[in-house]
Amino acid sequence: MEEMINRLREKKKALSAVLIVLAVGLLALALILSFPANKSGEKGGSSESAHDGIYKTLEVHFLDVGQGDAALIICGDESMLIDAGSNDSAEYVKKYLEGHGITKFKYAVGTHFDSDHVGGLDEILSDFEVETLLIPDQERDTKSYRDVIKNKNKAGKVVIPKVGDTFTLGDATLTVFAPARNDYEESNDFSIVLRLDHGEDSFLFTGDAQEESEKEMLAAGLDVHVDVLKVSHHGSKKSSIRQFLETVVPKYAVVSCAKDNDYGHPHAPVLKRLRILGAQLFRTDEQGTIVCYSDGHSIAWNKAPSESWQQGRAPEKSEDDGVENKAA
Ligand SMILES: [Zn+2]
Repeated sequence: MEEMINRLREKKKALSAVLIVLAVGLLALALILSFPANKSGEKGGSSESAHDGIYKTLEVHFLDVGQGDAALIICGDESMLIDAGSNDSAEYVKKYLEGHGITKFKYAVGTHFDSDHVGGLDEILSDFEVETLLIPDQERDTKSYRDVIKNKNKAGKVVIPKVGDTFTLGDATLTVFAPARNDYEESNDFSIVLRLDHGEDSFLFTGDAQEESEKEMLAAGLDVHVDVLKVSHHGSKKSSIRQFLETVVPKYAVVSCAKDNDYGHPHAPVLKRLRILGAQLFRTDEQGTIVCYSDGHSIAWNKAPSESWQQGRAPEKSEDDGVENKAA
């Protein structure tokens, strides 16, 4: 009897030992499994540790300058202006800037020397403090060109940016993507193209860059994939080639143009490409001045996107169509 009890005790001991080994094994397994998760968590943390994940608010104002471009970018207490619209819209631009308490710019950019981009830039240089003026290495025989060149030294310094150059605005970074050369046939291809990164949010400002410049950016392997695309050249079909847009895959696209402009901007093929890619479209001809906000993690807009997907309607050809520097 006693022997039987002893044997049962032995069995019980053995069973407990097995259970303990099992428990330890399970605990070890749980620890091992939890490690990769912790590690990836740490990885996220360490990339964030370079930055606490809290960004200054970035604002991008796409000003309604009729047929032309002007974008005001504010990040923290630093501001920049990309293009200044035509001469006709200079008063509107200046009033808008004053209304937003802007007195100086860290950067003012004349993307290229067409009058719908730099027509108002001489007045900006005269009336505002500009630390750095960015212009391309382009010469034109136009009044807009001469006016900017006459006033360029009012800026603290003048820089002709090169592909790969970077600049900071608040906690945002700008990278120059174009122009790669200074011997383009088309004036528009001289356009300074800038990528702007603010935390996880990204923007591409394209000026009027056309097919040739777009192909160069793609061939150079520049990362044109961004959240917000300032659609090149007012939505002209000479720009925004399919391959380029399919690489950008913008979540949001902004077209800056006048209602019933002479060129019929934006053109139907460009709108179709953007629509197929699922972009939300904003356009100054329908919505006036548009503002977008980035907190470094997400992007918000002051207006709902346009739903019209309506191509521009060019009015009857007017007599002043051939004006020398009107190339929009
Ligand atoms: Zn233009």
